[in-house]
Amino acid sequence: MGYQYRKRKVTPQPEREFKVGNGRISGYGSLFLGGLSLAAVFAYRYPSYLTTTELRAAYDAVFLQEVLKYSMWFSLFLGIITFLINRKKRLGTSGIFLTLFAFALGGYNLPTGSVEAKPLSLGMDWLILAFLGSTLIFTALEKIFPKYKKQLILRDEWGLDFFYFCINHLLISAILLVGNFLVAQSQWFMNSDLHNFIQSLPLVIQVLVLLICADFVLYWEHRIYHDIPRLWPFHAVHHSVETLDWLAGSRAHISQVFIERSVVMVSLYLVGASQAALDLYVTFAALQAIAIHSNLGFSWGFLKYLIVTPQYHHWHHSSEQPAIDTNYAAHTPLFDRLFGTYHMPTKHWPAEYGTTKRLPRDFVGQLLYPFNFLR
Ligand SMILES: [Zn+2]
Repeated sequence: MGYQYRKRKVTPQPEREFKVGNGRISGYGSLFLGGLSLAAVFAYRYPSYLTTTELRAAYDAVFLQEVLKYSMWFSLFLGIITFLINRKKRLGTSGIFLTLFAFALGGYNLPTGSVEAKPLSLGMDWLILAFLGSTLIFTALEKIFPKYKKQLILRDEWGLDFFYFCINHLLISAILLVGNFLVAQSQWFMNSDLHNFIQSLPLVIQVLVLLICADFVLYWEHRIYHDIPRLWPFHAVHHSVETLDWLAGSRAHISQVFIERSVVMVSLYLVGASQAALDLYVTFAALQAIAIHSNLGFSWGFLKYLIVTPQYHHWHHSSEQPAIDTNYAAHTPLFDRLFGTYHMPTKHWPAEYGTTKRLPRDFVGQLLYPFNFLR
């Protein structure tokens, strides 16, 4: 009786840490800003293909061009610093190269007028802003309140998860576009009596209703992946990550992202809450989804009984016996409690993460993994 919980071992790798003087801060800084700048210049150059009307309405393209200007010059500056301290020259070169390419494409002087809407466009602007915002907010939080202090920012397989972040963000923006189009086309499933009632409720209550409804749908959508052996390999991709941090949650099979978003979106529209409530819910859900995968160790006090916290979801990612097939919920522990899948030893964190049977360690291998029927 009683499972022996162990402490997770994180082997320090001082040579891979960000420390002043080893060229990693300036090198990766140059690469980060150079890459984002180049992506932004592409978006400014081909806005009708790479930006979406909905999101453009939410930000100031002229102001962001000013940010782009500083980002490009700073990337060059950091690239040169990397050379001067004579370390990590490849990083510095890559950062400088990306920025020069961005300058060559027009840099921060491209016109920002009205944009002709195309029926299908990719949310490159959304990808850039989401990556920039998440990196700044969550890397800072993970440094201030780490669960595993010695865990690297650029831990094993971060590049793979960064790739997932990009692919899945572009995909999500496309799904949202198609979804909005379909909703605008088909009013038939809208129950206006229910919607009028919901919209007459106070905003906080509307958000709570959305939260509970989405959580119920997400709980079962998630549990089905775990319970049906034929579907598990699709979701196993998400579980294949063995070091959890804010970026790790991005890893998911494209088909799962597609199904999950569609299912949630349809259920949210069926509830019919006000736009303000929807926006609040989506913002909360997006931040929570990143936070629960993060390397964040702070105590949530009584909140840990009300909302899904990093510790709660880390247990879902554990490959240890008592935690397998538990903690499916995305927002609150409510449905795990109701349906008997709650596992929260509040004094312990997992020692092992990942799947019991190891998956391929690359994107294509993981993409094809669920279709490998001859396996
Ligand atoms: Zn799962």
